[in-house]
Amino acid sequence: MREPWGSTLLRLLAWIGAAALLGLWFGGLAWWLVGALAIYLGYVLRQTYRIERALRSGSWPQWDVTTGLWAEMAGRLSALRRKSRRRKKRYNQLLREIRESTGALADAGVLLNPEHEIVWFNRAAIDLLGLDRKTDLGQRIDNLLRAPEFARYLCAPTPEPISIPGVLRATDRLSVQIIPYGRKQSLLIARDVTRQQLLERTRKDFVANASHELRSPLTVIAGYLDTLQDADEVPEQWRRPLAEMQRQTGRMTRILEDLIELSRMESAIGEADESYVDVRGLLERIVATRTSGDCAALQMDISADAGLLGSEAEIYSIFDNLIANALRFTPVDGTVRVAWRVDDTGANFVVSDTGIGIAEEFIPRVTERFFRLDPGRSRESGGTGLGLAIVKHALQRHGGELAISSRLGEGAEFICRFPLQRLAHRSA
Ligand code: ADP
Repeated sequence: MREPWGSTLLRLLAWIGAAALLGLWFGGLAWWLVGALAIYLGYVLRQTYRIERALRSGSWPQWDVTTGLWAEMAGRLSALRRKSRRRKKRYNQLLREIRESTGALADAGVLLNPEHEIVWFNRAAIDLLGLDRKTDLGQRIDNLLRAPEFARYLCAPTPEPISIPGVLRATDRLSVQIIPYGRKQSLLIARDVTRQQLLERTRKDFVANASHELRSPLTVIAGYLDTLQDADEVPEQWRRPLAEMQRQTGRMTRILEDLIELSRMESAIGEADESYVDVRGLLERIVATRTSGDCAALQMDISADAGLLGSEAEIYSIFDNLIANALRFTPVDGTVRVAWRVDDTGANFVVSDTGIGIAEEFIPRVTERFFRLDPGRSRESGGTGLGLAIVKHALQRHGGELAISSRLGEGAEFICRFPLQRLAHRSA
């Protein structure tokens, strides 16, 4: 038996024993025993009352006994109380630190419950989203952020943030991201990206303007070089340098044309227009121009008559760049297959080859501007390093996606997936 219980029982036995002795000595044993038990019961009730009062009021009295069950209980309760006080203090301090650190964040943070009502927000949310602690707690977030693209994003959040117009100034831009956590709760993070987007636009404008400005002088130089090449008066030793200059101006012209095309697509608003494009005719034209010299065997599999609704120039660019790449990166004894297939959910334009292939770790990077696995080989074969960037962009403008699969030394496959609403027949 544990110590406090042992001493308490011993005391009770001693108390009853003393009463029994007195009862035997003076007579009336039963009365002595009843009296002793009544006194003991009174003592138990008094101690229970003191503990209950101490628990209720929170103020802990000095205990009059220092050993036994009651002293033990009082000691333990008092230790528990001290522990809970310390824990409360620690939680309060932690809460204060969290509040201070989220308050210092430049990004707005808003906690939302499963009904998308605001539970909490930090100081930046007041400045950036115009939220008010008195009126907006408990409000649905889409009542306050009213951009239609935000309403759509709120219903089906993706890991990628979206960009919406500013709440306080419509000319600002906000990047908004919703991170789900716990039981259908979510954290909304908003960031002011006005300056970033302005810089990005300035950069794009600069590239577009510089390319336009360079085009005219380059056309003049190319023209003079053509004339010089054909002129009989040019000394023989100048023929080779002139041919090289002509080759390099051709390369510069191709880079400028690709840069201008990319800039045009980037500055165009929304998706591409919806003119009818005859896919079969377009592919036959491309194949005729691309297979004129020494190159790999090209096989066509156009099993569908459907055409596309889109911009003919951009679709031409997609098909031409992929076919040109496949032919450039496949040896002459290899094969390039071009297929156009339609199914219930859309259409696939597939270009596969048996060429040099792409190592797996570089596949995500090949659509970056000027990314080339072998810059020398790309330049030699007339590449600009912008082809796949143009393909990706043009596809996005048609609601499509690019999928690439390849292994080094085993060829590559590029699949352009077009959505059903972009498919059409000539009569449409
Ligand atoms: P480039 O003008 O250099 O072809 P692209 O943007 O079209 O520029 O392609 C980027 C890089 O991707 C190429 O330099 C090449 O390394 C790789 N690539 C593209 N298509 C293929 C292919 N069919 N086979 C192997 N590598 C390819």
